[in-house]
Amino acid sequence: MADIKTIGVVGAGQMGNGIAHVCALAGYDVILTDVSGDALESGLATIEKNMTRQVSREIISLDDMKAAQARIKTSVELVPFSGVDLAIEAATENREVKEKIFAALCNVVPKHTYLATNTSSISVTRLASTTDRPEKFIGLHFMNPVPLMQLMEIIRGLATDQETYEMAMGFADRLGKTTTNAEDYPAFIVNRILVPMINEAVYALYEGVGTVESIDTAMRLGANHPMGPLTLADFIGLDTCLSIMQVLHDGLADTKYRPCPLLVKYVEAGWVGRKAGRGFYDYSGDAPVPTR
Ligand code: NAD
Repeated sequence: MADIKTIGVVGAGQMGNGIAHVCALAGYDVILTDVSGDALESGLATIEKNMTRQVSREIISLDDMKAAQARIKTSVELVPFSGVDLAIEAATENREVKEKIFAALCNVVPKHTYLATNTSSISVTRLASTTDRPEKFIGLHFMNPVPLMQLMEIIRGLATDQETYEMAMGFADRLGKTTTNAEDYPAFIVNRILVPMINEAVYALYEGVGTVESIDTAMRLGANHPMGPLTLADFIGLDTCLSIMQVLHDGLADTKYRPCPLLVKYVEAGWVGRKAGRGFYDYSGDAPVPTR
């Protein structure tokens, strides 16, 4: 099995910068890429902010932080991926975008390099089949925020070989993550259950069953969820939630997965949650304010 020393991460958004963060802290060299230079800059700023918080909570030392930051290099080009042992794709949740990224990656990475996707819902088997190495391809589904969340869901495509699975298990172990195995069906385990619940919360809002605040309060205090479903939707990104519902709807051909029209409307408005400053809540002030 190829020894993993250098990890390439594609996409420097919420997930990509979190994956770079935990990999660098675990001692891996990291190359972080994005089509947007601004996303790379804000990704690095987020890593700095989150590591500083870990230092102030005495989870890591200042020396750990400096050493980890020094291990992260950024690039808007894929060229430096010629030196990576594992490439993890964490770009926008869109099949065509991901397929193009993997096609480009296959032209750059060496033969021994493993390929992974952090997709929340798209078929790992299908993405793998578009590459020159489906046996070395695997789903590594990190949770948001990556430095805090314990779980990594591991999804083997139909062609994924045992060596690649063992690499993934060893990698998760080094990051200190707990793994769970999910079969490669739409949205796997976590999002198969979580996102329809969020979609139902949006339906409850759409139908006037409750307000944004009453729906979130009901689920926090009535179901003991740490955050309400609409707050969580804003945290995940409404574009990502919609994409997952579309994959469930198309992939399982069951009307129970139809995306709520109000969710579609928010995405069409560009009100996609925290990352846009506005979703079911407006985040421009000190405290979030419901947007309807
Ligand atoms: P995001 O919108 O915060 O970031 C996506 C990034 O991908 C952006 O910076 C964008 O510029 C970049 N990008 C788009 N096309 C690209 C390309 N061709 N090459 C390089 N970079 C490109 O989204 P996110 O929340 O970080 O989600 C990323 C992936 O992680 C998605 O597949 C999503 O489903 C998955 N995921 C998300 C969550 C979550 O809670 N948000 C949790 C687990 C997994």
